[in-house]
Amino acid sequence: MASKTERVVVTISIDTECDHDVNWARANPLTFDSINEGLPNRLQPVYNEVGAIPTYLLTVEVLEDEECVQTLRDLQGSFEYGTHLHAAFIEPEKKYYDYAGVACPEFQCNYPEDIEFQKLENLSNLFTEKLGYRPTSFRAGRYGASVCSIRSLEKLGYCVDTSVTPRMKWFEQSGDVDFRAAPMQPYTPSDDSIVRAVEPGSRSILEAPVTVQPRFLRRTPRWFRPWFADLDAMKAVAHYHLKKFSDQPVVNLNMMFHSMEIIEKASPYPQTAADVDVFLSSMRDVLAWCRDEGFEFAGLSELYKLYNPAG
Ligand SMILES: [Zn+2]
Repeated sequence: MASKTERVVVTISIDTECDHDVNWARANPLTFDSINEGLPNRLQPVYNEVGAIPTYLLTVEVLEDEECVQTLRDLQGSFEYGTHLHAAFIEPEKKYYDYAGVACPEFQCNYPEDIEFQKLENLSNLFTEKLGYRPTSFRAGRYGASVCSIRSLEKLGYCVDTSVTPRMKWFEQSGDVDFRAAPMQPYTPSDDSIVRAVEPGSRSILEAPVTVQPRFLRRTPRWFRPWFADLDAMKAVAHYHLKKFSDQPVVNLNMMFHSMEIIEKASPYPQTAADVDVFLSSMRDVLAWCRDEGFEFAGLSELYKLYNPAG
């Protein structure tokens, strides 16, 4: 059957945070090389070269740091800024005032809905205060989002959430999140279940899942993600989506990773300058391939219009 796909849209959603250590604790002392060196000197030049449009999802500690905010304001090129919540770092019920050395694996959706809403509202207000406009795209820390998170984001004017990782379940002491049954392409999420799609455009928020390919007899899928997959593997994920969703007019490829991954030893992933070069060249190569295939690049919030033409 001939493909009905008219547009393939590539989004790059990046959790943009302070440097961490190899065990995912925040650096001690706290450092921000991933912002001040990573965005202007390592990531954005690659996107400018290939014409890609990343979406940097900003955490509390980045928005609280004046040097980081200046870097964000000075960044040159096409990109979107959104937000990313690690719930222990903002009021109400803020747990840490000094983030250095802290590893906090909790899910925002395990807080009562009104507390989670206020945390999201405070993060959004912090973003607006620092950058001068409202954020419209979001990902939960550790993917810990539920129907309540979506409802709160919708009330706060967000149009795209990208917390869902299809075929995966994440564990935490006070409650798990289970995305194993989630759709693999953008959908309007039900108010009863974050993994159930309802009629497109029936809500003012779109869920754009992280792009993965299920693997036969493997518990974890393959990601469309540098370091987790090499160039050929990422192309294979793209081809899988193009074939599986060839009946859809728009197909989305949503790459994800963390800003810390392009600073050596600031995450569990690249540990040397040579590792960082491998990461960046595989990211550039797959994005250049996408461009050469005629795929388009867009910020996350653009997806909302593409999937909800009436809205
Ligand atoms: Zn995070």
